[in-house]
Amino acid sequence: MSSAAAVDVVPVLCGERWQTLDAARTTDVYNPSTGQVIARTPLATSAETAEVVETAAAALPSWSETPVVERARVMFRYRMLMEQHFEELTALVTREHGKTLAEARAEVNRGVEMVEFAAGIPSLLMGDALPNIAPGVDAEVVKHPVGVCVGITPYNFPNMVPLWMFPVAITCGNTFVLKPSEKVPLSAVRLGELLLEAGLPPGVFNIVHGDKECVDTLLSHPKVAAVSFVGSTPIAKYIYETGTAHGKRVQSAGGAKNHLIVMPDADMDQTVKQLAASAYGCAGQRCMAGSLTVAVGGAADPVVNGLVDYAGSLRVGPSDGNEDVDMGPVIRDEHRQRVAEYLDIATGEGATVPLDGRRGFAGDGFLLGPSVVDQVKPGMRVAKEEIFGPVLSVARVDSLDDALAMGADCEFGNGAVIFTRSGYAAREFKQHFNAGMIGVNVGVPAPMAWLPFTGWNRSFFGDLHIQGTESIQFYTRQKVTLTRWPQEHESHHDPVWKSGQR
Ligand code: NAD
Repeated sequence: MSSAAAVDVVPVLCGERWQTLDAARTTDVYNPSTGQVIARTPLATSAETAEVVETAAAALPSWSETPVVERARVMFRYRMLMEQHFEELTALVTREHGKTLAEARAEVNRGVEMVEFAAGIPSLLMGDALPNIAPGVDAEVVKHPVGVCVGITPYNFPNMVPLWMFPVAITCGNTFVLKPSEKVPLSAVRLGELLLEAGLPPGVFNIVHGDKECVDTLLSHPKVAAVSFVGSTPIAKYIYETGTAHGKRVQSAGGAKNHLIVMPDADMDQTVKQLAASAYGCAGQRCMAGSLTVAVGGAADPVVNGLVDYAGSLRVGPSDGNEDVDMGPVIRDEHRQRVAEYLDIATGEGATVPLDGRRGFAGDGFLLGPSVVDQVKPGMRVAKEEIFGPVLSVARVDSLDDALAMGADCEFGNGAVIFTRSGYAAREFKQHFNAGMIGVNVGVPAPMAWLPFTGWNRSFFGDLHIQGTESIQFYTRQKVTLTRWPQEHESHHDPVWKSGQR
């Protein structure tokens, strides 16, 4: 393992300045494929964080007055730069996160789609008008920016999740402070560099790095208007409660436990491949990853046997610079241990482990193979808790109603999927399952930029979701104007507040 002192401290972006903080506290950034330390993230103090917020606030008056078509043009140029640097952005995601290059390409592609969505915002920012709402009075409704917006992001999508937030916020006329995950700060820095290259005025987009001290400052700073958060449920809840207590608008997306229901009539070959892709893609570190397969009736044996065969054949290895792997490492050694512990917890509670990913792997990377846990019962920890690693549990139930009942008990509510050939079963599932994003024969039903990312229950705290037109509502506030131009001789009585009979 390389010495942390020998690697660079990641800069913050405060206005036009890329600054290296004289940070008393830093945390190591690893290449999970090799176990090497590749950078150090500074943990900003409260004063350093406040300076970044002040910079964003100073840039607000001029940016919010910049015509929306000019703001959108920055996004057109940004998209072009992202396309030009696509492979570089991809390689960076793999380097600091560990997902395969193919998975990183899919992530960056989703990020580019957010920029494409933001480039179309001028049409979506149009207001409403209702003429003659009272005699001689016209009404109009227009959207204004909310102010300084903050984004606090998780480690598992270093490129896409920041892009869920700032392109929309900025194009709506807000200024922005991004606090990326301290585990994966390098993608955020590169996104910031390209944004400045696209012609964004200094101060409109800023980056600060840090932990709780930094986040608490962002949540309480009087000049912050809105906070977008994506991360684990306990922190999502904390962000929502603390941010709203300080009068901020907050959208806060949390963790998940996604159920994959397999009916006995499903195409088993296709289903097994989709289950594996859902559960083991990005080494299980996705908020939309399938985590609990609920096999109905005769589906159970073919699902378990198929999964053991298929998942057992996946090539697991270091992903950095290597196209010949199906699954890369997890983010940290501690995380690998935490995920692996769930296999002991499962057997301790009476489940079985027909495929155990704890094989010996060469090298210092944080590798863990795919695991299958069978005979999982409701109430077991592997049935309820987010594991966030390459472990797929299988529960065997008798009917679709039993599967829906397991879903009803789930504290989370991000994604849920059914594999079936029955339109009736699919409709029952779609109508009644207790989650916000549903897949019918689609293993990872994660909506794209144009659609809301609709987590339910403890997978989301707030009212307006990320992505789609809900995100525009989140990053704007409406102003209603009533206008009257009376002639000289006309009554000056207020026609809006007339007392009167109906
Ligand atoms: P995390 O909650 O540990 O960290 C997320 C962010 O919160 C980071 O920027 C981190 O620095 C900050 N943070 C951590 N502890 C904090 C504290 N005590 N006070 C203030 N800030 C704190 O999440 P993670 O491990 O980086 O990411 C994985 C989690 O994110 C999983 O639970 C996953 O399901 C979830 N996730 C959810 C979605 C979604 O759309 N619902 C999408 C991606 C990831």
